[in-house]
Amino acid sequence: MNKIVSPVWHPFTQHAIFPEFLEIEYANGAYLYSNDGQQIIDAISSWWVITHGHCHPRLQQAAKEQMERLDQVIFAGYTHEPAERTAKMLIDLTPAGLDYVFFSDSGSTAVEVGLKMALGYWHHQNITRNRVIVMEHSYHGDTIGTMSVGERGVFNQPYNPLLFSVETIPFPTASKEQVTLDTLESKCKQQPEAAAFIVEPLVLGAGGMLMYSADTLWEMKRICEKYDVLFIADEVMTAWGRTGSLFACDQANIVPDIACYSKGITGGFLPLAVTLCHSRIFNAHYSTDRSKTFFHSSSYTANPIACAVAAANLEMWQKDKVKEQIRATAARQTQKLTEMATLESLTNLRQTGTIAAMDIQVSDSGYLSEIGTQLYLRFQKSGVLLRPLGNTIYVLPPYCMSDNDFDTVYGVIAEAIFNLVEA
Ligand SMILES: *Cc1c(COP(=O)(O)O)cnc(C)c1O
Repeated sequence: MNKIVSPVWHPFTQHAIFPEFLEIEYANGAYLYSNDGQQIIDAISSWWVITHGHCHPRLQQAAKEQMERLDQVIFAGYTHEPAERTAKMLIDLTPAGLDYVFFSDSGSTAVEVGLKMALGYWHHQNITRNRVIVMEHSYHGDTIGTMSVGERGVFNQPYNPLLFSVETIPFPTASKEQVTLDTLESKCKQQPEAAAFIVEPLVLGAGGMLMYSADTLWEMKRICEKYDVLFIADEVMTAWGRTGSLFACDQANIVPDIACYSKGITGGFLPLAVTLCHSRIFNAHYSTDRSKTFFHSSSYTANPIACAVAAANLEMWQKDKVKEQIRATAARQTQKLTEMATLESLTNLRQTGTIAAMDIQVSDSGYLSEIGTQLYLRFQKSGVLLRPLGNTIYVLPPYCMSDNDFDTVYGVIAEAIFNLVEA
């Protein structure tokens, strides 16, 4: 039996394979520093949350000022300035047609709220629509509801009996987009009970950084409109510049009925999430009949410190040169992928905005592929945080990563791949 050295149970971690954990003491910009003095380039933005770099002074300042004024207050029946300011800025920045903001504290809760809004919308109009359409390979979180709308597999096998059933459409692989669209249309047509379609716009993150076109995204929205199926955009990962535009939906020029944002909403500083919706969804719940209340809350809904940091972050999006930084990051990724294309053991080199991904050609692919684990440790020893998804390596950097850092990250990848082939 294993000896207990720490009582901490880590997420998505097999302790029998990874018994040791690097202890990070502090962070700055694109770097993490461990207690044994190692500097590590954070090439996956600490699981996709950091946007402008770690410990950004503007965000630190906002947190400090707010924590001295108001720490936390019940959000049912009360409000506060940081939440009001954040909500107004969100309405300004997000696609026109998203009118209301519901706060929660993680991507999973933002998606749960989105699903509940969609079901409530139909229920309160006495219309029987309660089926959800989803896309193959999607990831929307790890709670029972979000697992239900996500890809079924090794991640959720034990819980499968509890997951609700959904309608699944295939991922729009290049040249097979029409199959996806036709399936969506037939599901909408044959399922008069279809309440909503939920999708990660442009990039399916945890599913393996799978990318599809803005045209397909636009077409999917058009089909949903035709059959009055609510369109839920899970932008928890794709928002905040990752795909090259502020939001992924911007590239397809679509306005979702419901949109979920989290991860980079505070620049990665504090946990916060929002679910935005069209006024018709709010209005379906708006009534003197108390049973139509939107019955959802988290204890820390709209925590004032998290909201103050989010507002400071949104201000940076409005005023600073973040967009230029994103363009520069995307250009560096393009250049590096071109260099990597010469490596024979890599395939499916792909990019959407600031996200770059590539697959290692192996017989044993998929998330449990041994290769990802080996590489992860090798990258860490070389001072780079990368966490391959099975045989997929991806680089999802904060926007402050320097040319030198890019050279180091891709140098380490090339070296690891080379050694893998040699071994
Ligand atoms: C990370 C993620 C979630 C879940 O967010 P948590 O904050 O981890 O609960 C949901 N949807 C997508 C697309 C994600 O990438």
